[in-house]
Parts: sequence; structure tokens; C-alpha cells
Amino acid sequence: VDGAHVPVLVVGSGYGGSVAALRLAQAGVDVHVVEMGMAWDTPGPDGKIFANTTAPDYRSYWLRTRTKQPLSNFLGFPIDRDVPRYTGILDAEDFSGITVYQGRGVGGGSLVNGGMAVTPRRENFGAILPSVNVDEMYNVFYPRANAELGVNNVDQAWWETAACYQYGRVGRKHAQRSNFSFVLVPNVYDMAYMQQEQAGTVPKSAVAGELLYGNNHGKKSLPKTYLARARATGRVAITPLHRVTSVAPVSGGRFAVVVEQLGTGGEVTATKQVTADRVFFAAGSVGTSKLLTRLKATGRLPNLNNEIGKGWGDNGNVMCGRANHLWDPTGSVQSSVPTAGIDNWAAGGAFAEVAPLPTGIETYASFYLSITRNPNRAQFSYNASTGTVDLNWQTAWKQPSIDAAKTIFDRINATEGTIYRTDLFGVYKIWGDHLTYHPLGGAVLNRATDNYGRLHGYPGLYVIDGALIPGNTSVNPFVTITALAERNIARIIADDL
Ligand code: FAD
Repeated sequence: VDGAHVPVLVVGSGYGGSVAALRLAQAGVDVHVVEMGMAWDTPGPDGKIFANTTAPDYRSYWLRTRTKQPLSNFLGFPIDRDVPRYTGILDAEDFSGITVYQGRGVGGGSLVNGGMAVTPRRENFGAILPSVNVDEMYNVFYPRANAELGVNNVDQAWWETAACYQYGRVGRKHAQRSNFSFVLVPNVYDMAYMQQEQAGTVPKSAVAGELLYGNNHGKKSLPKTYLARARATGRVAITPLHRVTSVAPVSGGRFAVVVEQLGTGGEVTATKQVTADRVFFAAGSVGTSKLLTRLKATGRLPNLNNEIGKGWGDNGNVMCGRANHLWDPTGSVQSSVPTAGIDNWAAGGAFAEVAPLPTGIETYASFYLSITRNPNRAQFSYNASTGTVDLNWQTAWKQPSIDAAKTIFDRINATEGTIYRTDLFGVYKIWGDHLTYHPLGGAVLNRATDNYGRLHGYPGLYVIDGALIPGNTSVNPFVTITALAERNIARIIADDL
């Protein structure tokens, strides 16, 4: 409500924002969450809330008139199509050297992601967040995050024969024949539901290709976990289709927050101002970095330090496909939820998720999203002439990721006598090096903030999302984002309230 005062305002409803909302509410604090995306609680004309990956429509993209699918081509042909401009669920946000995919809506990235819920190997943690106590994370906060997120494991006996994971088993065979370590990976998709989908006893979601534009069943996204529990406290209000554009100090130690209400065409229908005692930035790595960079540069939060906008990385994401022999079909029905990966992190700096290619036809292709040890870090800066916040990442900075991924796939191709697919990202292009699903950093822990996410320069302002993590987690990031948020909010509740 215009002119209102709230004790705590949370910007964004992804992992960081959901943890903050639940724990603050449980501590007796009233919380208002402002989310720029939609609520995603109402079916469309087809009776479904979310669109299928194979049939993108108006619900699929954030304010685009044409889809921008991560795999842009198939057999060399472009597959993108026109869609009505709408506040859809997946944002393919273009910067000059990279497209950053993000979820938009109540639940943030949990609405669109693969659900792979990976806790990094303990020996790698020091390189991820060097100022954080490792014992505390592995004894308390990772277990807490895993439990609250509903992380579960696929039943391996079932996985060994399920038609929808034939692509996973082919991935394993090829990994093991080249002596790579192959691991089954936990997920937040309800694996018991998946078994029923495969058996044909419940409505199909993952097995029918739903994922990138939302899952109608099976996925334990944040609205079913953290946010459901937060709402049940009676202390949490969530306002969708509202975007925070400014936060600035006013008298009494409070902050004035400017919020734009959006229509589903992206137009601003109202501008409101509220005041808050505390503001948690949880707009995601890109959203939080853009806001803070702009607010510092335009003089609304001038005392933020010079670490704002720095330390951004792509979690080393790079994609590729391999063309298998005709005796290695990967299956025409592939679950869109990945369950496995190839771990060559220690030797080659790459963890490759065996990803689905849910086209509905046999492709004889194996497809991988690799997370690699890429040392390049980019910076956000305010461009006064265009009024935009730019990111200086360059496409060529993916080369270390390609080199790391090749430590796996060159060897597998040599063993199998196979080649890379060249038709998935354009015409004769092997590497999907133009994108990331895993933006991290921009307001790094213990640099832009103290060791618990308190922004330097402004008591009462906090960062609690992927912006805190300096560019790489060695695995898929959301469990680490959640666990770090749990750690930080526990300290903030104990010391600051
Ligand atoms: P987010 O989840 O991005 O939430 C930020 C929220 O803030 C969004 O809802 C956004 O709309 C909102 N917002 C932004 N700006 C504003 C503003 N100014 N005002 C109001 N609201 C705002 N990770 C894994 O661990 N495993 C996976 O399998 C996996 N698969 C993925 C697949 C895809 C296609 C994508 C896109 C991501 C995937 N990820 C995966 C990454 C994971 O989803 C993100 O790391 C995670 O969601 C980041 O959490 P966060 O809390 O930092 O921000």
C-alpha cells in the first residue's frame, strides 16, 4: 500500500528471499516480500498454470516478442518463435557478452530450474566462500537447507530400468568407459511422483517435458516449501508484479523504498513508496547487483563501498552435445529433470550434468551442461548516458570453461569414436558459450558486505542471495545459496533484531 511502513521489506522471492521471509517471520517479525514477476497460481486457457518446454507461449518469456531458447537450433534450423509480450516466467536477459537466464515470479529460479540439489564437496568449499566456517556449514546449514527444500534421491533400482532415464544410463556408460567418476545427484523434484508419471498413474510433468517454463506437478519449488511455511506464519505478505526501483535512507534510521506496479505487458501502472526499518536485497545475483550499482552511482546509497558490482561469474557454465552411434539411443521420452553428472572437478575443473534433450523424438544425442572452474570475473557498472547497468563479461572469457569441458568430452569421444554435435547452438557451432543459468556474485560476502551479508555503509540493509557468492560454487548453486542464507539470517536474527 502506498505510504505504508513495514518492519522488513524483502526484494525478490527466490531462495535468499524465501529463507529471509520464513526465518524472520518465525522470529516474530512482519515481512513484506516484493516480487517483480507473477504469482503463478492461476491456470491459463489450457487449464494449466505453466507452458510445456516443447510449446512455448505467452507464459514462457519475460517481456520478449520472440522466444530465446537455450538450444537455439536443431539439425541446424533455428527453432525460436514469436510469442506475445508478457510478464512470462523465464527471463533471457541479454548483456553484451552473455545471456543470463533467470526465473521471474513468486519463487524466483525455483520455478524454472532443473531442481538439481547439489552440496559441494567439502574440500572445495574453501575456494567458494573462504571467510565462512566450514564445519558450521556442513554440520548445520547444508543439512537445514536440504531438509527444508525437500531434497530427495532417485531410487537407483528404478532408475536402472526407467525409460525416461535411458539418456542418463547412456551418459553413465560413456563416462565409465573413459574412467570418469559418475554420480547420481539429489533433486527437489518428487522422485516418487516421477515413478508414478513413468508408470502412467498420475498426470505427467517432467516426463512430458515440463521444466524450463515451469512444472505443473512434481517439482517442489519454493512456493511449496519455504514460501508455504512462511505464509503459514501469518506474518508474511507477498506482492507480485511489483518491482523495487529505489532504496534510500530517510530519517529515523528508516529506508524509503520506491516500488513500481507492473501490468502483464510490462507497463508501469502505478508508482508507490513505502518505508521500511530493514531491507533485504534478494533480487538474485543480477537483480541485486543492478539495483545496488545504480543506487550507489546515482547518489541514493552513496556510502556503499567500491566492491558493489564486482566479483560476478557465470559458475563456469558451458553446454555441448555429442552425437552417439545408432546402437546408443538416448530415448524419445526423456525426463526433463536431470539426475546425474560426471565429476572431473579435481583433475580437469569440470562437473558435467547429463542433461535431457526432451524433443519427443529419438535424437541419438547426449547433451551436457558443464559447470567449470572458470577464473574470469566481470563487473557491473552504471552507464549514465543510457541509464542502464552494464556487465563487462566477454564471450571469449568462456574459453577456460570450454577447455575444462573438453577434458571430459574429448576423451569420451575418443573412446567411443564419436563426435560433437554442431547443430544445437547455430550452424556448425559446438559450444553453447553464450549463456549462463547460474549467475553468482556482484555483492560478494565479506567484501561488499560483512561476513553475514550486512551491506557496508548502511546498517539495516542486507544482501541475502546469489550475489554474495563470488562467481562459482563448483556445482549447481541453489543449495549453497539457501544454506548461506540460513547461516546469515540466523546470525542477523540473533544480533540485530
Ligand atoms: P532468484 O531465484 O533469481 O530470485 C530473485 C527474484 O527476485 C526473482 O523472482 C526476480 O523476479 C526477483 N526480482 C529481481 N529484481 C527485482 C526487483 N527489482 N524488484 C522485485 N523483484 C525482483 N540451480 C541449481 O542449483 N540446480 C539446478 O538444477 C538449476 N537449474 C537451473 C536451470 C535454469 C533454466 C535456470 C535459469 C537456473 C537454474 N539454476 C539451478 C540456478 C538457480 O535457479 C539460481 O541459482 C537461483 O534461483 C538463484 O537464487 P537467488 O535467491 O539468488 O535468486
